[in-house]
Amino acid sequence: STAGTPARPSDWSNATSARGVITPSDLESQVRHGIEAGQLSVWFQPTVRLADAKVIGVEALVRYRDDHIGDVPPQLIVDVANRTGLLSRLTEQVVRGAFAGIERIRRADPEVASLNVNFEAGQVLDQALMDVLAEHVEAHPDVSFVFELSERSLDQATDDVLERLVAFTRDHGMMLALDDFGKAFSSVNSLVRFPANLLKLDKSLTDYLATQPERAGQLITGLTHLARTMSFTISAEGIETPGQRGRLQRVGVRYGQGFLFSRPKSADRLIDWLGAH
Ligand code: C2E
Ligand code: MG
Ligand code: MG
Ligand code: MG
Repeated sequence: STAGTPARPSDWSNATSARGVITPSDLESQVRHGIEAGQLSVWFQPTVRLADAKVIGVEALVRYRDDHIGDVPPQLIVDVANRTGLLSRLTEQVVRGAFAGIERIRRADPEVASLNVNFEAGQVLDQALMDVLAEHVEAHPDVSFVFELSERSLDQATDDVLERLVAFTRDHGMMLALDDFGKAFSSVNSLVRFPANLLKLDKSLTDYLATQPERAGQLITGLTHLARTMSFTISAEGIETPGQRGRLQRVGVRYGQGFLFSRPKSADRLIDWLGAH
């Protein structure tokens, strides 16, 4: 993702806190406890229309803050959840928090229409979780729900899982997004296997527009043509500068997200920001 290589507990071996050194196993057990105790929160990053920076939706991102260790990188929270059988518990908190947040956000600005949540492909087989999700989606017919899957997660998915994904999202009127596109080498393969409605260009491609403008521009122009042929929308991740935004617009990308527009924020902070925006 935009954050680079997923953080692992071992990266934290030198972390310190008011209480002294935190070992990887302390960290892991704190995170595990946080997930089990329902202490995760959800932040929201706006998705904007590049032409006028109008906010059209939000992506829900998991957050965990511990008094002793501080903010834990989401990739690490997900990693711990995966290894300890708690991914379901994590995602259920994110889904509930995401819908609670979008309800309040839409009261402040009804034009914020879409809600994106990140999943692992295999989670479509988690019936209890998919029931919770379907219930929330049905209770919010005014929200356009986007089920995001990373390229990495798709690589590991069997054809059976993919079929279930397509049927489940179609039956509940959700959109499918292919996240972090262009980060791995199997990108073109995923476009064949996965009928995405939305392709999210990884931050690395956005960055190439600054460092390798000609080739990156040609590549993204080609992808926008492909998007028309294959009927998907393209959105760019990790837009940090006005120059990147301008170049993306010139090569035909109409939507995006990034620190240039807004960092992820709590629902409260986002509502204040929308009011001032
Ligand atoms: P992602 O789904 O690709 O989310 C976008 C990430 O890029 C977020 O990182 C966001 O804060 C960061 N970002 C957005 N704009 C910029 C920018 O302009 N510059 C930079 N440097 N970064 C930007 P975050 O919140 O740290 O999440 C990292 C990854 O963790 C996510 O990448 C996603 O793969 C995973 N993740 C987060 N929440 C969840 C969740 O609830 N479930 C699952 N399965 N994965 C999650
Ligand atoms: Mg990313
Ligand atoms: Mg995402
Ligand atoms: Mg992404």
